[in-house]
Amino acid sequence: MNPYTYRKATSIADAISALGQSGTFLLAGGTDLIAQMKSGYRVPAAVVDVKRIPELMAVDVTPNGDLEIGAAVSATKLAGHAHLRQHHAALYDAVQLIGSLQVQNRASLGGNICNAAPSADAVPALIADSATARIAGPEGMRGVLLEEFFIGPGKTVLDAGEFLVSIMLPKQPERSASAYLRFTPRREMDIAIVGAAARIDVDDKGTITAARVSLASVAPTPVRAPNAEACLNGESVSAKTFAVAAIAAQSDATPISDTRASADYRRDLIAVLVRRALECCAKRLNLEVPA
Ligand SMILES: Cc1cc2nc3c(=O)[nH]c(=O)nc-3n(C[C@H](O)[C@H](O)[C@H](O)COP(=O)(O)OP(=O)(O)OC[C@H]3O[C@@H](n4cnc5c(N)ncnc54)[C@H](O)[C@@H]3O)c2cc1C
Repeated sequence: MNPYTYRKATSIADAISALGQSGTFLLAGGTDLIAQMKSGYRVPAAVVDVKRIPELMAVDVTPNGDLEIGAAVSATKLAGHAHLRQHHAALYDAVQLIGSLQVQNRASLGGNICNAAPSADAVPALIADSATARIAGPEGMRGVLLEEFFIGPGKTVLDAGEFLVSIMLPKQPERSASAYLRFTPRREMDIAIVGAAARIDVDDKGTITAARVSLASVAPTPVRAPNAEACLNGESVSAKTFAVAAIAAQSDATPISDTRASADYRRDLIAVLVRRALECCAKRLNLEVPA
């Protein structure tokens, strides 16, 4: 590893000022960054630890029921958060799949997002929850829908000097449920060949009033699946509805073949995982899934 300076930022202004120096990288848990520095993929001149910035370490339910999660909050802390478990179950599923317990103790939500891996487990769950990224920079604060945050592998809309402060998750309707599933060749310590998150809102008759589906590892960035969503909106919860949406999700993806799986295998997995994620949502809503 090349020599670099290390310091702790204690405020948002402090971090913005640090990012004004070229070659500065922010450090949260370091589970991606340190490995990238060891391999020579990243060669920072300076590393600035953001875990002392209060806004980045907070998890708050706002008075209107939205959830704001600081970017440096760890997967372990999120897995222990009762409100998140009850209202944002897909994210609860996802944070417990990241690496191992040791990795989860370090890994932050913001690091998972800003590393911008197409396979990042937390991202589809957040997109299914209509998450907004709150970004700080020299020009002030701005918000970006998370589905518009990614440009390509390792690339985001963050401009020079900007960083992620928090993620806002809007309050979900009363009859709403979400789920995240992924497939990995190994049970643990592996990244998703495909990941799928779904959220459905239903009315008293079991009609789906709103649906969000999002996928990981099937395109250069995590993606939303509008074709799948169109097959769900306004339909009754049923095995047929879910099967049609699951097949439609294949057309929302542009998977590649690589050393881990072929594009065809990934397409098959998309249909399986989207269907199962939708079934899991129905189960969480205590809904029968008729044929
Ligand atoms: C053994 C192992 C297993 C893993 N398994 C999984 C897995 O199953 N699923 C999965 O999704 N990931 C996995 N990962 C990847 C990693 O753990 C996650 O992506 C984690 O959430 C990254 O968070 P971090 O806090 O460690 O990020 P860091 O390494 O601290 O940062 C990652 C990147 O984001 C930038 N960054 C961090 N915070 C901010 C911010 N607030 N604003 C702007 N930029 C920021 C950093 O500069 C860096 O470029 C694994 C990693 C390891 C080492």
